[in-house]
Parts: sequence; structure tokens; C-alpha cells
Amino acid sequence: MMIVMTPQATQAQIEAVCTRLETTGVHVSVMPGELTTAIGAIGDPEGVAELGLEGLPGVDRVVPISRPYKLASSELSHQQPTILDIAGRTVGGGSTFCLIAGPCTVESQEQTLGVARAVAAGGGSMLRGGAFKPRTSPFAFKGLGVPALEILAQAREETGLPVVTELLDAQHADAIHEHADVVQIGARNMQNYALLEIAGKLGKPVLLKRGLSSSLDELLQAADYVLKEGNEAVILCERGIRTFETATRFTLDLGAVPWLKLHTHLPVIVDPSHAAGDRRLVEPLSRAAAAVGADGIIVEVHEDPDAALCDGPQALHAAGFAAYAADVAAHAELLGKRLA
Ligand code: PEP
Ligand code: MN
Repeated sequence: MMIVMTPQATQAQIEAVCTRLETTGVHVSVMPGELTTAIGAIGDPEGVAELGLEGLPGVDRVVPISRPYKLASSELSHQQPTILDIAGRTVGGGSTFCLIAGPCTVESQEQTLGVARAVAAGGGSMLRGGAFKPRTSPFAFKGLGVPALEILAQAREETGLPVVTELLDAQHADAIHEHADVVQIGARNMQNYALLEIAGKLGKPVLLKRGLSSSLDELLQAADYVLKEGNEAVILCERGIRTFETATRFTLDLGAVPWLKLHTHLPVIVDPSHAAGDRRLVEPLSRAAAAVGADGIIVEVHEDPDAALCDGPQALHAAGFAAYAADVAAHAELLGKRLA
């Protein structure tokens, strides 16, 4: 922490701040400047934050120096990228690209198995599909619930694809634990801290989506909630954020990918489907995600998107999935990655 004094601060006020800081056991260093004096506090930033120094006479501002996220940070313990092995599929680490694909929502056994076969045949790495859906309108289709998890398990059985599905509510934790290979936390729940702790305790890899209006600092602090439960397996997902632009469903923040790669050891994937809201944009955004260094993509696919109960306009046609996957793989290869 750095405590910046006002230009009018007196020597006594500077000393009072130092005395207060010393009670927390931090190392205090006074740096007089031409106009103002800054006081460096090296050590436990939380202890310093609790002192409430902003209110002391002569203090202009208190500036945190270290980052607010701890466990997700590549600064502290983790110098090496986290590499996950999910039923033989590698996520992260720079030599593979993970292509997670499937319907937005499990609608029936036939629909899900049909898409799962197309995903497996096209070289996809994992199958996605929602059983419990967060819907903006309470009157919209909210998913089949537990029967959908059983359908996903059947699809895994038949295709060998690990299954990614969303944990929407704590009451579904046991059922999700039983059937999912990867537990998705949706954008709307990124700041549901109690749910993040529950997800962390399940002991399965967690795919954490960025909140609709969350900063990357907030995303990494949300990841800390999962990591602090002793669960090292967190995949971050950029899925578009709210901006003034309404032409696309959300604004895909591609800059987030290299920024996250600099600041965290966790794998980072991109969801072009929810960002675009329009299948015509999904392939170009997928190429961009691969080119900008993402560790993978999660994309929505349906055999008959016009008949989909959720997110049809953004779903790729299952019949075109193999060509799409080949195009994504070619772009990932430019960075030396092969499909996981
Ligand atoms: C989804 O993956 O189907 C979904 C609802 O995503 P998000 O939480 O990013 O909106
Ligand atoms: Mn969806």
C-alpha cells in the first residue's frame, strides 16, 4: 500500500500515519517528494486497509500496490500456467486448444445425442448442454433439470466426450456433482459468492464465466473464491460484456484474453455464441479467439436451430460443425496448438 499525503500535511501528521501503520507490523518507508510525501507500507495489505487511513488528517489517498486477486494471480505462487486434464482432454498450457460444443439447452435425448455425435465426429473436445437454465424471463423454458443431466451422461457414455453443464443453484449441487465433468458457473452467477464456494467444494473443474458487467479484476477475485476451497481447476471464460453497443448481443472483449494471460495462471477460453447472439459472427469470432491466444472455445450447436428452445439464432448448424472445427483448428495451429 502507498499512502499519499496532501501537500499541506505537517510532519506531525506524517508521523501519526507512520505510527498507526507500525501497529500492524508492516515495514514503513517515508518517501518525501517535491510537493507531497508518500509513505510506503510493505506487508499485509488487508491489515493496512482495515486501519481506515483515508480519514486521518493530512492523508490524500491510499493506493493499493499489490493486486486484489491472490490465488488466481500469476504474480505470487504460480509462475507456471495451470494445465488441466479433464478425462484425457488437456486445457491450458499452450500446446492444445479445447473445443467445447453442444446445445445451449438439453431439450430431448434425440436432440442431445444428435449434436453430441456431430461434436465427437467433428473433433470436439467436450460436450456442453444446460440442464438448469438462467432465463431472463421467468416464463421462458428453464431446462429439463435432472433428466437432462441423465441425457448428458448417456451422451458421454456413447461418445466419450466429457460433459460441461451449469450449476445454477446450490440445491442442484449433488445432481451436478454426480453427472458433470466440468461445473459451469454462468455469467449471472459470477458474483454469487456462496455458490462459488459450493462449486469449489465439489472438487470438479469449474468453468467460470465472466459476469455481464464485471471487470477482469472482479472475475479473478471470483476465481479466488473457488481456488480458496482447494480446487485448483478453474477455467475462465470471456463471453461478452455489456457496452453501449447493441448491434451484437454483448461485446466480445478479446483484449481480455491476452490481459488475463498476463495476469493469471488459469486457462482462458472464449464463448463467441453468447457474445455474438448471431451464428454468422460465431466463426470469425472463433478464429479471432484462437489467434489472440485463447486456450479454447465453448460454442453452441444445434441440429435444427430454428426449432431450438433457447438461443437458436446463435447456434451453429450441427451439419456444419466439422467444417467449423477444422477452421478453428487451423487457426489454433498457427499458434502451435492442436485440438485437445
Ligand atoms: C450458457 O452457456 O448457455 C449461458 C447461459 O451462458 P452465460 O452464463 O454466459 O450467459
Ligand atoms: Mn445459451
